[in-house]
Amino acid sequence: MLKREKTDVLVIGGGAAGMACALSAAKEGVYVTLLERESSVGGVLNQCIHNGFGLQFYHQELTGPEFASRLIDEMNMENVKIINQSYVRDIDVRKRVAQVLSPDGAYEIQAGALVISTGARERPFGSLLIPGDRPSGIMPAGVAQRYVNLENRIPARKAVVLGSGDIGLIMARRLTLEGVEVVGVLERMSYPGGLTRNIVQCLEDFDIPLHLSTTVTEVRGEGRLRSVEVSKVDENFTPIPGTSRNIDVDALILSAGLLPQVEDFSDDLEVDPVNRGFLVSNTCESSVEGVFAAGNNVAVFDLVDYVAAEGWIAGRHAALFSRGVNTSGDRVPIFRGKNIGVLVPGIVDMEEHLRLYIRLRKPMEKGVVVLRELKIEKKFSYGVPSEMIQLVVNRDKLQPLMNHGRLTVEVQ
Ligand SMILES: Cc1cc2nc3c(=O)[nH]c(=O)nc-3n(C[C@H](O)[C@H](O)[C@H](O)COP(=O)(O)OP(=O)(O)OC[C@H]3O[C@@H](n4cnc5c(N)ncnc54)[C@H](O)[C@@H]3O)c2cc1C
Repeated sequence: MLKREKTDVLVIGGGAAGMACALSAAKEGVYVTLLERESSVGGVLNQCIHNGFGLQFYHQELTGPEFASRLIDEMNMENVKIINQSYVRDIDVRKRVAQVLSPDGAYEIQAGALVISTGARERPFGSLLIPGDRPSGIMPAGVAQRYVNLENRIPARKAVVLGSGDIGLIMARRLTLEGVEVVGVLERMSYPGGLTRNIVQCLEDFDIPLHLSTTVTEVRGEGRLRSVEVSKVDENFTPIPGTSRNIDVDALILSAGLLPQVEDFSDDLEVDPVNRGFLVSNTCESSVEGVFAAGNNVAVFDLVDYVAAEGWIAGRHAALFSRGVNTSGDRVPIFRGKNIGVLVPGIVDMEEHLRLYIRLRKPMEKGVVVLRELKIEKKFSYGVPSEMIQLVVNRDKLQPLMNHGRLTVEVQ
């Protein structure tokens, strides 16, 4: 029989979402335990030494580690216990019991409420189905970032980046600053995948070319990567014959997107098929009562400010739930209309303000987000999938949804 401890709110994962959650729950006066599998909290923030974090949450531009240390300092409260090197391998969501593996052995924690904030992971090379050899020198951008920023190791002399997501753009600049020759960033779509500010600050300012509608069609090298074959692709991402060329590089840096980390717990909790993360309401409650989720395991957010704001909401509701205060009201589902990709949340709880985060499916010169049953509209000029559109609706304005029994979000 495993040793069993108890806590009011158990937070699993100590990135931006988990830390903001632990802090807000603690401010409600309950006892909080935060479990982190690494040797320190901070999550991906620890390796993001560039600035661009916190403009909304702290009204200040911070680096990733600065953002993390602000939260760590604030969590220095008597009712917050942070336990590092503790991996949650399983949860009984109905009983709210977590099984933990730690250097001191395995044990269980019984919680009044649970929050899962396990972040996202990078899409692996194998999933890209690129033919050729499997030499060393092929790595996800986040791994390259970890080598350079945390381990002080330079993983390449001459590199090409595949995928123009933000991590890839940031690593193209970071490697250049460390003396690596970055020959270009390849993007199979006809438009960039990352934020506009990163295209300008990471590529244009450093004369790193961005090749749109282009991908890697073969990888060559025994032992170590020697070269890649790149080709232009059509709108279906099919290589166009006669366009292939060879580039000599010793590293292929992959920035092919992040996937919410849900696998360990997705048997018991509902997952949104488009977001590929846990389905949650605007109180951050999952499909099981008393179990909440926040951050990149709900959907891959573009800004840490959104992640922390969601963690904050999750923490408050989890704390209230653990004290037996029922904060939830009537609920209606949210449906995707035209050109809506990622959409958070999936359910409206009438007792909480509604903060919608939307990613378009395709870039649009201009458009309008329509909340059909609420007759609310928000115009935007030049919308791209990489930048989330945020829309906040005060809970006083949600009442019409009770007559319709649903909310439809679409872009016209
Ligand atoms: C390279 C890069 C650059 C970025 N640049 C910016 C930027 O300039 N500005 C900006 O606003 N945002 C930026 N972001 C986005 C922002 O940093 C992230 O969205 C945010 O930090 C994610 O926080 P999270 O808590 O959801 O996940 P994470 O930071 O991934 O934290 C999840 C934590 O959970 C832990 N964990 C996972 N599973 C378990 C388990 N079973 N048991 C225990 N612990 C577990 C992990 O170890 C990790 O510490 C960037 C992101 C990346 C990757």
